[in-house]
Amino acid sequence: MTNTKKKILLLSTGGTIASVASEEGLVPGQSGAELLHTLGGQPYEITAKDILSLDSSNIQPEEWTYIAEQIYQLRRGYDGIVVSHGTDTMAYTASMLTFMLQGIDLPVVLTGSQVPMQAILSDAPDNLRVAFAAAATCKPGIYIAFNRQIMRGCRCVKIRTTGFDAFKSINMDPVAQVTSDGIDIKHSANEYVPSEHAICTLNTKVNPHVAMVKLFPGFDPAMLKAMVNAGCKGIVVEAYGLGGMNYMRRNMVKAVGEIIKQGIPVIACSQCLYERTDLTKYEVGRAALLEGAISGRDMTSESAVTKLMWALGQEMDLEEIRAFFNKDIAGEVTIARP
Ligand code: ASP
Repeated sequence: MTNTKKKILLLSTGGTIASVASEEGLVPGQSGAELLHTLGGQPYEITAKDILSLDSSNIQPEEWTYIAEQIYQLRRGYDGIVVSHGTDTMAYTASMLTFMLQGIDLPVVLTGSQVPMQAILSDAPDNLRVAFAAAATCKPGIYIAFNRQIMRGCRCVKIRTTGFDAFKSINMDPVAQVTSDGIDIKHSANEYVPSEHAICTLNTKVNPHVAMVKLFPGFDPAMLKAMVNAGCKGIVVEAYGLGGMNYMRRNMVKAVGEIIKQGIPVIACSQCLYERTDLTKYEVGRAALLEGAISGRDMTSESAVTKLMWALGQEMDLEEIRAFFNKDIAGEVTIARP
């Protein structure tokens, strides 16, 4: 009899899902095999591999590179991959994997939990089950599965510190969700993302010398210049509303212009979680646009900062980065106006 079960690889990296109590607080301590044991039998052939055992606060570009390499190298022979990961930086990892693994040829689903798998009322079993189902049925792509929703990874933001509904897909509906009767997954039309890459490519070159600044009334633009003097090669500004920046008294617009004249890209995102940046609407946005600020459109800040790191890693110059931000690489941004 032939084995028709889908083959799934579980790569575990730590996080609350794998955490155990210690004198120092919760620390990752459970292996992928232990997670599977607690979960119980699944209708898939699952292989577990522990690749990291970290609280995701410690996951940085070096770990992104390692996770991307593991996915790239191990993916053959599997129908899908689940990456168990801490929730705190999961949206950043998912966004960066989107850029590092363009043209990914199988579903890669990140998941985690707010409560450790070991706790009786944990959200981990449900999240893992949905992640496996997504890895078995979704189209190729990088996703986050959480609280019964499967979302495009590069659209996700962590919005809760403890609640189970911890992730939201921003400016894009979830690509799939568990049906209300709980027995199936309903896929939506936005699951498919065309890619320029006919085959999966691994490109882990990133430049982490970027900064992300949330604007607030009274921010001294000299701080922005100080960052550049300290070696910053690109800045994401979380500006106000549609992307406005102050020019009165403390001239943020002028500081942004001076930085851009040095060839350093400044991406204007919004502090608002939903909807898009539009620098053309208000004078305060237009001024920044005239100075050369690049609109982050409807991207999350997580996506914008990882896209910028990746672009700088490719040694793109200012104009190439501008063009790159005018392109949708894997569903992270809406280019055409709705
Ligand atoms: N601090 C944990 C982590 O990100 C939180 C979690 O996993 O929910 O690793």
